[in-house]
Amino acid sequence: MTPGRNPRDQRDQFVPGKRLSGYWKYQFHIRAEEGLAVHGGETGLEIGSTVEPNLRVILNPRTGYPYIPGSSLKGKLRSTLEKILGKYDAQKGTPCACGKADCPVCVIFGAARATSYVLPSAPTRVVVRDAQLTETAREDWDAAIRDKKPALELKTESLSNRATGAAQHPRTGERVPPGAEFLGEIVLREFAGDDGAKFIETIQKVMRFVAESDGVGSGISRGSGKVSFHDVKIDQQKAPTFP
Ligand SMILES: [Zn+2]
Repeated sequence: MTPGRNPRDQRDQFVPGKRLSGYWKYQFHIRAEEGLAVHGGETGLEIGSTVEPNLRVILNPRTGYPYIPGSSLKGKLRSTLEKILGKYDAQKGTPCACGKADCPVCVIFGAARATSYVLPSAPTRVVVRDAQLTETAREDWDAAIRDKKPALELKTESLSNRATGAAQHPRTGERVPPGAEFLGEIVLREFAGDDGAKFIETIQKVMRFVAESDGVGSGISRGSGKVSFHDVKIDQQKAPTFP
């Protein structure tokens, strides 16, 4: 294992005899149907801001626009597939580490186990890119800034005293407003013997399930994070051949 690398990342694990034969590119729009609480940005603390530092929407440091980190989307798809297959260990909260060749979780997302030998499921097939705002959503964002309107919405949540109903500990967090759209991209690498179409089908089923029953970001049980996926494009490419 190379120091400084995520031990779970078996993407570049050397697998004798498995030839990289191509890839499938799955592109889609992620539309916020409710405000998205994709937090994690502690940067840009404003003096006098009412927003809690850890409830700030994560912004792309290069562009200043919100985005959905690939790691967050990947984690959601992975844990959902684990739950559907009964491989989710809620007690330990640890991801599937079986490393079996027939485990869709370990094959697609990688086994959560660092070993000095090659697991039958390796290498990790999926690459989940960060989902950046679409062109239209960027224009809306720019227009809001230009008109000195808030580009993000604020949501205040409080715990209520169950006996008296009185609100306690109100906390204000930022959300990407409903209607915003992001460009998602998932790549599935296909090795000799793989059924790439099946990987895509698995991802699609999980995404549909997430859209219907779950969401993206935090506060999903409290009215945040509902998304829809649409404008889907699927592209299959074969690896280049060499004489
Ligand atoms: Zn597994």
